[in-house]
Amino acid sequence: GRRFDVVVIGGGAGGLSAAAGLLRRRPNLSVAIIEPSAEHFYQPGFTLVGGGVFTARQTRRAEASLMPRGAEWIRSRVERILPDEGRVVVADGSPLSYSVLVIAAGIVLDWGGIPGLEETLGRNGVTSNYRYDLAPYTWQLVQELSRGSAVFTQPPMPIKCAGAPQKAVYLSCDEWRRRGVLDAISVEFDTCTPALFGVPAFVPPLMNYIRDYGVDLQLGSRLVSVDGARKIATFERKGGNGPERVERGFDMLHVVPPQVAPGFVRESGIADEAGFVAVDPATLRHVTYRNIYALGDVAGTANAKTAAAVRKQAPVVALNVLATLDGKEPVFAYDGYGGCPLTVERGKIVLAEFGYGGRLMPTLPKWILDGTKPTRLAWFLKKDVMPRLYWEMLRGHEFMVKPDRVAA
Ligand code: FAD
Repeated sequence: GRRFDVVVIGGGAGGLSAAAGLLRRRPNLSVAIIEPSAEHFYQPGFTLVGGGVFTARQTRRAEASLMPRGAEWIRSRVERILPDEGRVVVADGSPLSYSVLVIAAGIVLDWGGIPGLEETLGRNGVTSNYRYDLAPYTWQLVQELSRGSAVFTQPPMPIKCAGAPQKAVYLSCDEWRRRGVLDAISVEFDTCTPALFGVPAFVPPLMNYIRDYGVDLQLGSRLVSVDGARKIATFERKGGNGPERVERGFDMLHVVPPQVAPGFVRESGIADEAGFVAVDPATLRHVTYRNIYALGDVAGTANAKTAAAVRKQAPVVALNVLATLDGKEPVFAYDGYGGCPLTVERGKIVLAEFGYGGRLMPTLPKWILDGTKPTRLAWFLKKDVMPRLYWEMLRGHEFMVKPDRVAA
């Protein structure tokens, strides 16, 4: 097999940003990026596709056009890591050896985890903004619906962008209100979580919208099956005498699927209990293998799984990987930052930014942007600024990030 200084698993947000950051700092490094897909998706844009603001096409680019200069793209899928040998086994081709490994394979959408769901996706009014090809169907359904019932779901944590399930609720309701049909549609939001949002500071402004739109909020309610032909969704909820099953008829059903860590992580013996890569929450280095790092959704860290988190993680990983290659200890620390722009209506956003433990971490001073209130500025950032920052981030541009040094 072939040998590289750094092998990166995944050419998504985390993999490309970290690889580009490495090559910007040290252009002669030999870097391989293993990524099976010919296309890269700007997933944070999917919510706006489902809300009729972006076209799907705006959220997709050819993977080849995003590969950092100097990186070698291995178009294959990782099947297993052999961490004691420093090798990676891919689906087709011989194993690759690395000095340092960076894992950025994302999180797996487990559509099959809900019986009946997969076969009715994209039909019978069943949709999801979590897939490029389905987000336009969300907008189609919203436009077609004038009366009846709309049901939105959120699976157990962890999921990527935990705010995205309710963003779909708000943007749909906003459109129905504009068309004057909201009163004729019963809207229900079923979430497995015990609260509307994980960080208490953002719950009151969101609850205002739940009330204004007249959404029936069901906390602790888990989607367990879908009958597409009969248009019935079944939920499990806590009842007085233990769990009860509740059936809901729908005209439109927006599902966010359960999400799990990639299987190869656990099979390679590098996972935490939940199956994600067991890394130090600050240095992002593996807890036992000193030459393995992880970032993005696959990392077993307690931050919000978002591209916003990747913005802060990628420079930390790039700098620490270089230190490791030089035989030194990791020098920089990630602070747990993550962000979630909650699209509460077309034109306004509650911009939740927070770190480990739910600590509020606003990027801008409060007098410019108060993240606990719906603002037009945050909408403008989401629609017009963040997409550009994202594509630049993939090229190794590091915006407003100055990673902390590891405490001595
Ligand atoms: P990804 O970008 O998903 O990339 C993972 C890559 O790994 C993929 O290209 C995949 O093909 C590849 N891969 C998988 N398995 C293998 C394997 N075995 N071998 C090789 N390669 C593999 N974030 C925000 O910051 N703000 C938002 O508003 C926001 N909204 C979102 C809305 C939706 C609907 C969704 C779905 C996500 C949203 N996110 C948002 C989350 C954001 O998209 C992710 O957190 C981010 O993409 C994580 O980057 P990543 O590199 O870990 O994973």
